[in-house]
Amino acid sequence: MAQGRLFIFSAPSGAGKTTLLKRVMAELDNLAFSVSHTTRAPRAGEVDGVDYHFVSQERFAAMRDQGAFLEWAEVHGNFYGTSREAVLAQLAQGVDVILDIDVQGAAIVRASQLIDGAFVFISPPSLAELERRLRGRKTDSDETIGLRLRNAAKEMRAAVEYDYLLLNDQLEEAVTVLKAVVLAERSRAHRLPSGQPIVLEGL
Ligand code: ADP
Ligand code: 5GP
Repeated sequence: MAQGRLFIFSAPSGAGKTTLLKRVMAELDNLAFSVSHTTRAPRAGEVDGVDYHFVSQERFAAMRDQGAFLEWAEVHGNFYGTSREAVLAQLAQGVDVILDIDVQGAAIVRASQLIDGAFVFISPPSLAELERRLRGRKTDSDETIGLRLRNAAKEMRAAVEYDYLLLNDQLEEAVTVLKAVVLAERSRAHRLPSGQPIVLEGL
């Protein structure tokens, strides 16, 4: 069986990554979301084990020291990490896996060269629109929003490192493009199960 493909998605907080990923996952088969571990407190409506594995600082540090994370980073004052075991198990089953991680984590995965992933950066149309979306979401304090906006400028500079840059202006258009990226990546020649070129009968 062919290995699954790893998709790495990064975006400044509030760009609409969660919204886009939920849509793409609902509309395409064989895609699994890698549930990260975090020390951040759950937001209203977030479910432990679905949105994140919410863990204590102590538990996170113990997992990190055991090498349980494929990558981990401190983002906006909280720790986040990707379970190495969960991701590798899903890829081995032929499932395509989505990592929703920040630019630092993406740089670690890219540098490790352990897995050949497709890197996608999602950008808001402007900083003013990013602020509107963060405020409109009504999940973060003014202080948190300020911190996220300051980090956004830094994160945007990392966009050039990614294979794809997706502008999330009109939602429906962005969903269409994101689905096209996933489908195109699945069709890359090196993804053929045998790894051999296709030879058509009769040619
Ligand atoms: P992220 O996961 O990147 O932090 P969210 O998916 O939570 O961002 O989106 C932030 C807010 O912006 C949400 O209220 C969401 O409904 C809204 N949003 C997402 N995409 C768009 C879009 N294309 N146009 C307008 N609002 C959007
Ligand atoms: P939020 O707190 O808004 O859910 O996420 C904040 C940021 O942390 C986002 O940029 C998100 O992509 C990132 N993030 C979530 N999980 C992980 C992870 O496992 N590793 C890294 N490096 N970043 C993560």
